[in-house]
Amino acid sequence: MGGIGSQFDCVLVGGGLQNGLLVMALRHHLPQARIALVEAGPRLAGNHTWCLHQADVDQAVWRWLQPAVAHRWSGYRVAFDGLDRRVALEYAAIPSTQFASTVEQALARGPGKLWLNTRAVQVEGQSVVLANGQVLAAPLVVDARGPDLRQAPAGQGWQKFVGIELQTHRPHGLLEPILMDARVAQRDGLRFVYVLPLDPQRLLVEDTCFSDNPLIDVADYRAQVMAYVARQGWAVAQELRQEQGVLPMPWQKAPMARGSAVIGGVQGGWFHPLTGYSLPEAARLAQWIACRPLGAIARSELELVHRDLQKRSWLARMLAFALFRLSQPEGRAAMLERFYRRPDAVVGRFYALQSTLADAWRITAGAPPRGMHWWPRRAAREVLS
Ligand SMILES: Cc1cc2nc3c(=O)[nH]c(=O)nc-3n(C[C@H](O)[C@H](O)[C@H](O)COP(=O)(O)OP(=O)(O)OC[C@H]3O[C@@H](n4cnc5c(N)ncnc54)[C@H](O)[C@@H]3O)c2cc1C
Repeated sequence: MGGIGSQFDCVLVGGGLQNGLLVMALRHHLPQARIALVEAGPRLAGNHTWCLHQADVDQAVWRWLQPAVAHRWSGYRVAFDGLDRRVALEYAAIPSTQFASTVEQALARGPGKLWLNTRAVQVEGQSVVLANGQVLAAPLVVDARGPDLRQAPAGQGWQKFVGIELQTHRPHGLLEPILMDARVAQRDGLRFVYVLPLDPQRLLVEDTCFSDNPLIDVADYRAQVMAYVARQGWAVAQELRQEQGVLPMPWQKAPMARGSAVIGGVQGGWFHPLTGYSLPEAARLAQWIACRPLGAIARSELELVHRDLQKRSWLARMLAFALFRLSQPEGRAAMLERFYRRPDAVVGRFYALQSTLADAWRITAGAPPRGMHWWPRRAAREVLS
């Protein structure tokens, strides 16, 4: 191993969502921080369209996150066999291309260096060894190398999806997203379609399943997307891009990941258990790190932040357990339909992992959905023990 390391204030391993957010937060709070960002791939941020609710994170985060946002809507629709309603919660989308350029610009505003096409081969608490033998040193190392599906615990379900971004021949007429259209043929657990209108003639359409296994037949999902698009009467002028994902939906409490570096992102368990979405929790973690002296982040302090997330996510983990362990596939749609009958504020707090006990009562009380036994006590025992 050759090369004496270069000294930075922090070394960020993995140029995906978590560390991109961290670059933005650090530049906002500590403009002179010397940041090293190391990404194995040819570009930052991969190929995603990341979404979140406006209320998932607070104003302090929006101050630095805003430049990455490309689309905003003041509400969205959900549709089930027995319910078709608008949810008046603000929703935003961040394409990975805009995210990558925002991160690059933030990095360029102060001292820092970006390595692309460079794999980190050894990641420690205060140093990182690159594949070319170079050693980078800093009092803070954040390891956010993304999900590792091989290390998935047994207690979880999966959200699997394929999304296709399309140009339509004529204006498609959709003004707001459809977060869930479950009025489609069901298979592999719960199936629904998710649609984002990106401009008057551009759509992202995703076919999604909440499934018991992580296996995905991409060609089949693509065919389902195109069949849905045809049924809506949207004539496709051009297919622009495709994205796909298999996201964990765990119900078991996860201990904080071991390691001498700070483990961020999905790998560190910083995500919502019922959606697999990590943007809000990754942004919160980025804000927390950037507001501290970089060399003085104690593991015990981080442990408290992680425990707080586990505490906030108890209801989401209960619902994940109920969806995947206590309900028949047809019961999954019924359960979500029932969830979306609750007031907007209850839905919003659930996505932000800020549910109150009264919210939990409103979501779980009453007759169980079709295909399910009355479940809250059993789920609470499983999830809270
Ligand atoms: C298609 C898709 C859409 C999603 N949509 C949403 C959404 O709308 N909202 C939401 O909140 N969540 C969403 N998610 C879930 C989650 O937010 C993403 O998976 C997110 O990218 C995870 O962030 P991360 O930083 O943990 O990992 P990643 O963003 O995957 O970043 C990890 C990076 O580390 C790099 N890397 C790996 N190994 C090394 C190494 N040895 N050295 C250097 N670099 C390395 C990888 O190349 C990668 O760029 C989506 C996921 C997918 C796949």
